[in-house]
Amino acid sequence: GPEYVRAIAPYQAGKPISEVAREFGLDEANIVKLASNENPFGVPESAKQAMAQAAAELGRYPDANGYELKLALSKRYDVPMEWITLGNGSNDILEIAAHAFVEAGQSIVYSQYSFAVYALATQGVGARHIAVPAKAHGHDLDAMAAAIQDDTRLVFIANPNNPTGTFVKGAEIEAFLKKVPSHVVVVLDEAYNEFLSKEDQYESAAWVKQYPNLLVSRTFSKAYGLAGLRVGFGLAQPGITEMMNRIRQPFNVNSLAQAAAIAALNDKDFLDKSAQNNAAGYQQFVEAFEQMGLEYVPSHGNFVLVKVGNDLAAGARVNLALLKQGVIVRPVGNYGLPEWLRVSIGLPQENAILIAALQKALAGT
Ligand code: PMP
Repeated sequence: GPEYVRAIAPYQAGKPISEVAREFGLDEANIVKLASNENPFGVPESAKQAMAQAAAELGRYPDANGYELKLALSKRYDVPMEWITLGNGSNDILEIAAHAFVEAGQSIVYSQYSFAVYALATQGVGARHIAVPAKAHGHDLDAMAAAIQDDTRLVFIANPNNPTGTFVKGAEIEAFLKKVPSHVVVVLDEAYNEFLSKEDQYESAAWVKQYPNLLVSRTFSKAYGLAGLRVGFGLAQPGITEMMNRIRQPFNVNSLAQAAAIAALNDKDFLDKSAQNNAAGYQQFVEAFEQMGLEYVPSHGNFVLVKVGNDLAAGARVNLALLKQGVIVRPVGNYGLPEWLRVSIGLPQENAILIAALQKALAGT
C-alpha cells in the first residue's frame, strides 16, 4: 500500500463499556462512560418511534439522496436542498471533503489540538498537513490564515473545538473567511454548535450564501443523541456540494438514521433538555475541579479538558485508575496533551461518580 497510508496512526475511539467490564472484571451496569461526547439521555423517544416505522422498509435500500431529511434540513437552515450533503456521521463529510478537493502532495491547514479526524483525512489522501500552533489551546485564526500556501486546498476549523472545548466568536470566523483565498475550501466543523449559549450563536448557515468556499459541517451525534446511527450533514453552495456528491458512497446514510434524524431535528424539547443538562453538568464539573485545584480549559462543548498532573504520564496513569473504578474517560496523549483528560458531561449522577472517582484516583497516584 502507499507510504502515506502506512504512516497513519489509526483513530483511537473511547473504549466500549463491555470491553472495560471484561478487562477489569466489573459489572457493566456499574460502569460510567463519559468518553465520547455522547448525549447522556441517549436516543430521543421521537427518533425511536420514527425508526420503528422505518424498520418495516429495511428490505429496501435507503433513499440515496435522502430527500425527506434534506427537505427538513433545507427548511431549518433556509438553504436549497441541493446545497446539502448527507454523511455517515460528520466524519464522513470531513473525509469526503478531503477526497473531493485535495490531491496527494497538496496541503491542508488545521490547528494544533484540533480534532483527530483532520489528520486522518489529510493522510488518507496523501496530502501534507500544516498544523498551526494553538493560542490558549484554541484556534489562532490569524496564524492559520497566514499559514495558507499556494498548494493549500482545505482548512479545517472545529468550533467549538474538540478536545479542548475552545470557541472562536462568529465575528472572528467571518473575518477569517474574508481573508481566505477562494481556491481554499474552509470546512467549519460545528459538531457541538447546539451547546452554544444564545450569546455565542452565530449565523454560519447564512454565511454559506455569501462564501462559495465555505462548507459547514454538523452532526446528529451529539446534542441530538444519535451517535450510533452515524448521520451528519454539510451545507455549502453547489460548487462544493456537486463535487462531494460525485465521490460519496451512494447509500452512505441508512434508512433508520434518515428517519431518526428527521424526528430528532424536530424534537425541540429533547434538544432544550440536553442543552440545559449540559450547562448544569458543566457547572458541576468546574466547581469540583476548582475545589480540587485542577486546571481546566473553559469549554463551550459537552466535555471538559482537565489537567490531572504535571508529568507526561499523568493522563495515562489517572485514566487507568479511573478505569479500575469503572469510569471511562478520554486520554488525550495522542493530541499532544499527556497531562490532561477529556471528560464528557453526563447526567448529574454520572458526573458525581466521575468526580468522586477522580478524587480517589488523584489521592492514590
Ligand atoms: N467533529 C468534531 C469536532 C468531533 O468532535 C466529532 C466527534 N468526535 C466529529 C466531528 C464527528 O462526529 P460524527 O462523525 O459522529 O458526526
